[in-house]
Amino acid sequence: MLGIVGAGKGTQAKKLSGHIGVPHISTGDIFREAVKNRTELGLKAQKIMDGGGLVPDDIVIEIVKERLAESDIAGGYIFDGFPRTINQAEKFDRIDDIDRVYYISIPEEESVQRLKGRRLCSLCRRQYNVYLNKDINGKCPECGGKLIARPDDKEETVIVRIKNYIKETKPLINYYKNQNKLIKIDGNRTIEEVFNSIIDRLPGS
Ligand code: AMP
Repeated sequence: MLGIVGAGKGTQAKKLSGHIGVPHISTGDIFREAVKNRTELGLKAQKIMDGGGLVPDDIVIEIVKERLAESDIAGGYIFDGFPRTINQAEKFDRIDDIDRVYYISIPEEESVQRLKGRRLCSLCRRQYNVYLNKDINGKCPECGGKLIARPDDKEETVIVRIKNYIKETKPLINYYKNQNKLIKIDGNRTIEEVFNSIIDRLPGS
């Protein structure tokens, strides 16, 4: 899944993972877990993430390799938030083959707006948006956990993340277009509509 922050990569990757039964691999989730567990990686990543920067490519490639050493990926996997730089993509091309890249496209102004409203359940990690789920009241409707904003969703951090996306990640659109792997999906629609477009463009459909 490729797209600007807030495009809905995580939401769609999770839904697709349930639909086709292959794991969803989010490098952001791996880093957040490491931060929570205060591992060496977590301590390194936290400062970078909180400032809206990108974790160095070599570290990212190492954690991706570690994740792909697990047995559950035998039937395939869905990346969300990786690769994020041309260097990561080139390095990954030497590790495995990406079949398709779903580029979820939304306007940049929409990205800022969505992240302002994003909330995460502190217990089950489900994600909500206060603009879309108007009746949530600081509590997760699924498990009752407290809803929190991600520390890197602060407006000033979001601006840095968007700048980094434009400079480092956006070039991947052409990179994968040139490899004939890119499928552009209009992300400025409901979650279900976006998901249906992805399903319609799965291999074999
Ligand atoms: P995400 O949940 O995908 O928005 O990722 C949260 C943060 O984790 C990013 O803002 C980066 O600081 C870091 N991160 C996640 N994936 C990568 C990646 N592939 N390359 C570099 N940094 C990453």
